[in-house]
Amino acid sequence: MNYKLKYYNHFGLQECDPVFCEYNYIVNGIYVPAVNIHHVLFGKGKKDNNIINLMAVSYQVHQDAHNEKLNRYDLKEIHLQFMKCNPY
Ligand SMILES: [Zn+2]
Repeated sequence: MNYKLKYYNHFGLQECDPVFCEYNYIVNGIYVPAVNIHHVLFGKGKKDNNIINLMAVSYQVHQDAHNEKLNRYDLKEIHLQFMKCNPY
């Protein structure tokens, strides 16, 4: 199963459902469309597609994550919180 499907399945989403940026939901309390599923801790080379490692993010948050403007361990905490809150 590819990682996008895995993410959708975890939250009970269909492919046409809107997906929200987890960072904006937890940190800013707003719904921003997500455009990427980011590999939070492990991504390069061997992809870890465990749900703990998969985070939906907006374009800007994704850029910041890859430019190291956002710390991956902070993102992981935000992701864990998002899974607990589960706005879907
Ligand atoms: Zn990424």
